[in-house]
Amino acid sequence: MGRVLMTLAAAAAVVACSVATMVVRRRMKGRRKWRKVVGILKDLEEACETPLGRLRQMVDAIAVEMQAGLVSEGGSKLKMLLTFVDDLPNGSERGTYYALHLGGSYFRIIRVHLGGQRSTLEVQDIERHSIPTSLMNSTSEVLFDFLASSLQMFIEKEGNMFNLAQPVKRELAFTFSFPVKQTSLSSGVLIKWTKGFAISEMAGEDIAECLQGALNKRGLDIRVAALVNDTVGALSFGHFHDPDTIAAVVFGTGSNACYLERTDAIIKCQNPRTTSGSMVVNMEWGNFWSSRLPRTSYDIELDAESMNSNDMGFEKMIGGMYLGDIVRRVILRMSQESDIFGPISSILSTPFILRTNSVSAMHEDDTPELLKVARILKDLGVAEVPLKVRKLVVKICDVVTRRAARLAAAGIAGILKKVGRDGSGGGRRSDKQIMRRTVVAVEGGLYLNYRMFREYMDEALRDILGEDVAQHVVVKAMEDGSSIGSALLLASSQSVQTIQSV
Ligand code: ADP
Ligand code: MG
Repeated sequence: MGRVLMTLAAAAAVVACSVATMVVRRRMKGRRKWRKVVGILKDLEEACETPLGRLRQMVDAIAVEMQAGLVSEGGSKLKMLLTFVDDLPNGSERGTYYALHLGGSYFRIIRVHLGGQRSTLEVQDIERHSIPTSLMNSTSEVLFDFLASSLQMFIEKEGNMFNLAQPVKRELAFTFSFPVKQTSLSSGVLIKWTKGFAISEMAGEDIAECLQGALNKRGLDIRVAALVNDTVGALSFGHFHDPDTIAAVVFGTGSNACYLERTDAIIKCQNPRTTSGSMVVNMEWGNFWSSRLPRTSYDIELDAESMNSNDMGFEKMIGGMYLGDIVRRVILRMSQESDIFGPISSILSTPFILRTNSVSAMHEDDTPELLKVARILKDLGVAEVPLKVRKLVVKICDVVTRRAARLAAAGIAGILKKVGRDGSGGGRRSDKQIMRRTVVAVEGGLYLNYRMFREYMDEALRDILGEDVAQHVVVKAMEDGSSIGSALLLASSQSVQTIQSV
C-alpha cells in the first residue's frame, strides 16, 4: 500500500514538474515573442525619430527646394505652380457665387452670398458627399457627368429663390485638389492624378473645360469662371478674414500648401503680369523629397505597392490617406512575427482597410480598458487581445502620427523661412520689432479632426521657431475654407456682379 502511494506521489511529482516546465517554457516563449514585438516597435520609433536638429534640416531643405522650383521649370520636386492669383479677397466682395470642390475623399458644393463686408458672408447652402470609389478609376466622362449631375440637383433645390426677371447666369469656382498647370485663373491642365485617383487619358486635359462641357451637355447655364487649387481656396478664405494670412496648408486625404510670393522671386516666369507685385504659388509639396526624411521599411513597401510609386513621398508620410495604412503595416508585421495578435487576420492584410479616422479613435481612446481599440482591432479580424497589446497599438498610432505632424510643422516652417518670416533673417532673431504677425490658414479633415496630430504639429512648430518667433505666427484652422474661399476668390476677380440675392 505504502509502495503504491509512493509510486503515485512520484508520478504526481513528475507530472507537476513537467507541467511547471511547460508553463515556464510557454512563458519564456511568450516573453520571447513579446520581446520580438517590442523590438519591432523600438525599430519603428528609431526610424521615425524627428529630433529638432533633423526638423531644422527639413526646414532648410524645403526652403532650398522652393527656391529651386521658382528658378526653373522642373528644377525641383516641388513644382511651385503659378496660380495667376495676385489679389486675394479682402471682405469687400459682393454677389452670389458657387463652388464645386473635388477633394481626395469628398466633393462639396456650396453657394455663398457676399454683402460687401466680412460680417455679411453667408454660406447659404453646403453639401458634402463621399466620392464613390468607383469614380476614382472611371473615365473622364463619367467623373464630370457625375459632378455636373450633382450640381444640377443642388441648383434644382433652389426652386425659384432668385426670382429674377432675366435668366440667371451662375458663376462657379471649381476647386480642384490635384496638381494642375494653370494657364489662367479660369483654366489649367491636369498634370497627374494623386491620392488613389487613376482616370486614364486625362493628364494634359483642361479641367475647367471638362467640367464646362459636362454642364453644357446637361443644359445648365453655369459658367466655370475660376479653377482654384484647394490650398489657394483656403488662403483666400484666410485672407478674407485676416489680411495677415500669407500661406495655407491642407491636411486632408493628401497634403499641399500655397503661399504668397513676390513676383520678382518667381524667376521662371518672365512676365507674371500682376498689379500687386506678388502671386500665390501652389507648391504641390506632397511631392517634396529629401534623403533626410525619416523613412521606414513600411513607407518603402507602401510606396512600392502604390499606384504612384516614387512619387508624392512627403504626402505618403503625412497625408490622411496613408497614415492608417502605415499603422496597419506595422501591426501586420508584428502579427506575422509573433502570435500576440492571434492567427494572422486576412482582413489585416488588405491595403487601406485601416482608415486614419480609426487611427485617431484608437490614439485618443480614453477608456481605461481601451475598448475603442479593442473594437477597431476586432473589425480588423483581431479579437480579444490583452490590454498590453492594445496599449502597444496605441503606441504605434502615436509614433506614426507624431512623425507626420512634426514633418508637417517643418513644412510650414520651411515656407516661413522662404518668405523671411521665421525670424532667422540676418541674425535679427532677437529683434522683436521686425517680426510681423503671420497667419497660416490650415484646413483638411486630418488637422481638423485629429487632436493629437494638431497638438504635435503646433508643438513642433513652436520648437522649430522658438518662442520669440512663434508668438507672431498664428495657425488658423478653417473648416470648408477651400470651398468657400474659392467662391470668394472668384468674387474678388469679377468686376461685374452676377446674381443678386432676393
Ligand atoms: P478631402 O481630402 O476630400 O478634401 P477632408 O479635408 O475632409 O477631405 O479630409 C478627409 C481626410 O481627413 C480623410 O480621408 C481622413 O484621412 C482624414 N480624417 C477625417 N476625419 C478624421 C479623423 N477623425 N481622424 C483622423 N483623420 C481624419
Ligand atoms: Mg480637401
